[in-house]
Parts: sequence; C-alpha cells; structure tokens
Amino acid sequence: MSDLLLGDFFGYQGLLSDAEQEELLALREFLDSEVRPHVNSAWAAAEFPMELIGKFAGADIVGRSYDWDGRPRASRLFTGFQALELSRVDPSMATFLGVHNGLAMGSIMILGSAEQRQRWIPSMMAMETIGAFGLTEPEGGSDVARGLRTTARRDGDEWVLNGAKRWIGNGTFADVIVVFARDVDDDQVKTFVVEKGAPGFTATKIEDKFALRSVQNADLSFVDCRIPAANKLEGGNTFRDVNKVLKVTRGGVAWSGVGCQVGAYEAAVAYARSREQFGRPIGGFQLIQDLLARMLGNVTASLGMTVRIAQLQEDDALRDDQAALAKSYVTSRGRETVGWARELFGGNGIVLENDVIRFFADAEALYSYEGTREINTLIVGRSITGISAFV
Ligand SMILES: Cc1cc2nc3c(=O)[nH]c(=O)nc-3n(C[C@H](O)[C@H](O)[C@H](O)COP(=O)(O)OP(=O)(O)OC[C@H]3O[C@@H](n4cnc5c(N)ncnc54)[C@H](O)[C@@H]3O)c2cc1C
Repeated sequence: MSDLLLGDFFGYQGLLSDAEQEELLALREFLDSEVRPHVNSAWAAAEFPMELIGKFAGADIVGRSYDWDGRPRASRLFTGFQALELSRVDPSMATFLGVHNGLAMGSIMILGSAEQRQRWIPSMMAMETIGAFGLTEPEGGSDVARGLRTTARRDGDEWVLNGAKRWIGNGTFADVIVVFARDVDDDQVKTFVVEKGAPGFTATKIEDKFALRSVQNADLSFVDCRIPAANKLEGGNTFRDVNKVLKVTRGGVAWSGVGCQVGAYEAAVAYARSREQFGRPIGGFQLIQDLLARMLGNVTASLGMTVRIAQLQEDDALRDDQAALAKSYVTSRGRETVGWARELFGGNGIVLENDVIRFFADAEALYSYEGTREINTLIVGRSITGISAFV
C-alpha cells in the first residue's frame, strides 16, 4: 500500500488484504474530495449535510458488515478501518453512519425475522431509508436497562407506545426508528420499529449541542403512538437482546475513537512542520516533538486494541468486558490526544478551519455515548475481580 495512514506507525493496515487496502485508499480519496469540504460548515451550522447521503450511498460503505443478497460481509478488520477513515475526516459523519448502519440496521439484522429484514434492509442499504436507534430516555441513561420507562401495550393488531427518548441520533429526519419499550404485560423490554409519520410520534431537535454538531440528536415523544403488530422485531424480547446489538456497535465506537485521534494527530504533524517560530518550524522544538510522540503512542496503542477487537469479532469470540475496555480506553486516550493537538496549534487551535477544535469537542461525545467510561469501567472491574460494583 503506497499511502499508509499517517498514524499507523506499526503498520496494522498490512493485516488487510491487498484488495482491502486498495478499497480503503479509494474510500480515503472519496472522503477527502467529497466529504471533507462540507464538514466544517455543517458543524458550524449544526446542520446535517443532506446532500452527502446520495454520495455515501454511491460509495458502497453501508451494509458491509452483513451477509446480504448473496454478497458476503467484509472482514471485521476492514469495516473497523472504514469507521476509522470516516472519523478521521469527521466524527459526526462516522456517528451518522454508525447509527444508521450499525445500531439501526444492526438491530433489524440481528433481531428481525427474515421477512422483517426483507421489508426494511434493502432500502436502508440503498440509503433511501435512514435509520435511528431509540434506547436512551430523559430519565434513563446509564441505568436504562433497569430504568427504561417507555411502555408498549398490545391492542389487537397494534402496539401502543407511550413515553420519551432522548439523544436519538438522526432522530429528526430518520424514516425508521428502532425503539425499545417495556411490555406492560410481562415487564420485558421489547424492540419495535416506528416509522416516520406514525400517529402520536414527534421528534424535536436538541439545540445548542457543542460536540458532533452535524449529528441531529432529538428528543422523541410517543403519545398513544400506534404501530402495526408486525413492527415488533421478532427476536427483540428482553434487554439481553438489546445487548447483542450493543456488543457489536461498542467496538465500532472504539474504531471511531481511533479515527478522531488520527485526524487530530495528522493536523498537528502538518502544523508542526509548517508553523515557524524563533526562525524555525515548531516541529524542531523538543517539547513539540514530545507532544507528537505522546499522541502517536496513544494512537498506536488504541489502534492495536481495536485491531485485536476486530480479530476476536472475526472469530465470534469477543466478550463484553473486552469491548468495554476497548471503548473506554480508546476514548479516554482520545481526550488526551485531541487536547495535545489543540495545544500544539496555540491560538490557531481554537479556529474551526484548522479542524482540531472540532476533534477536541467531538471526542467528548465519543467518550460518553454508548456507555460512559464509568459504566464500561464497572464492566471491566467486575471481570477483573468477579465482584459487581454496579449499584
Ligand atoms: C452525542 C450523543 C449521541 C447519542 N446518540 C444516542 C442514540 O442515537 N441513541 C440512544 O439511545 N442514545 C444516544 N445517546 C445517549 C448516550 O448513550 C448516553 O448519553 C449515555 O449512555 C450516558 O447516559 P446519560 O447521558 O443519561 O448520563 P447518566 O447516566 O445520567 O450519567 C451521568 C454521569 O454519572 C455516571 N454514572 C452513572 N451511573 C453510575 C454508576 N453506577 N457508577 C459510577 N458512575 C455512574 C456516568 O458515567 C456519567 O458520568 C447519545 C448521547 C450523546 C451525547
């Protein structure tokens, strides 16, 4: 491969096949030419760049994790590097696709019947239908497994949903929203697909959000929202079923966490070479080299962890505690890396056109969503000691 990812110091991309490396290069070129020009203006406006949906659809990046229609899935390592490349350019776009492709399509692929998959997946693959994933609630974040309050009541050929969801990515414009609600009859959390326009369903954009600004996060409301009985996913019958989806996507967030670091690191390297002070490039100062070396150490350790996660996934051997450690470790190192990149830029580090302040802010959201550091640490701590410290 002629153009190795700058932060891939140990050459992890060499584990990909030649064809995969070529495809990744093509993806990088697509992202640099078609996506990068839009990201800062979209981030500043806190608007989703809708014009990119058709371009993403044409770039063959959606649905690569799934065997579908006779086409085998790509390797876990390849889809991991795909997420890295997306986030390296824009963690907001990586999140948009992570929600559509991972959380929403993943729920339907993992929990839906063959008929339900056939109903929604083809148009989601083509990005004619965009998905969202509604788990978190205003009063139920980290404790959502226990504290999920949205209810579902079976009424003849329909389910009736009541409750609220918060933070739902793509929620303002999604066509299908995977929604988790507690069945009043057996108290179990079940999985439903709510389609845009369902009576009693409304979505309101969360304003003044200062990370992942292009992602449209919404408050969702369900007031006697009626959906057909056929919209309950056949395999979504308890919270354990939700975890089947989250185990897969948590690894994807770790990959996005590496990409966010790589984007900031690459910007810092370029700036260190070009910015001159005291008559020489700042990259010639020992303290600047120290920042760069520390950033590269974080990127390299994070990438090593995610590569191993992908290998374990490939063997269907990834454990929850391993995914939890990777997600929390990578996003914690991410906060350091983007902070050092911001520092290296001096005052220019807070100007959006230099990108690093965007990575700096976005790293905060990656750190907290899909399980905060504290919650993932409790999962790891339980694994280490055999004692649960969850309250
Ligand atoms: C940008 C963004 C996008 C998101 N997208 C989606 C989405 O598409 N769909 C969706 O369903 N959700 C989404 N979320 C929600 C996200 O998963 C939650 O924010 C996350 O799970 C944390 O919940 P919370 O924000 O309510 O924090 P809380 O649970 O209220 O936690 C607050 C603090 O208390 C700590 N804490 C809580 N319990 C414990 C404990 N037992 N021990 C120690 N510390 C504890 C937490 O770690 C945290 O630091 C998104 C969030 C963000 C910020």
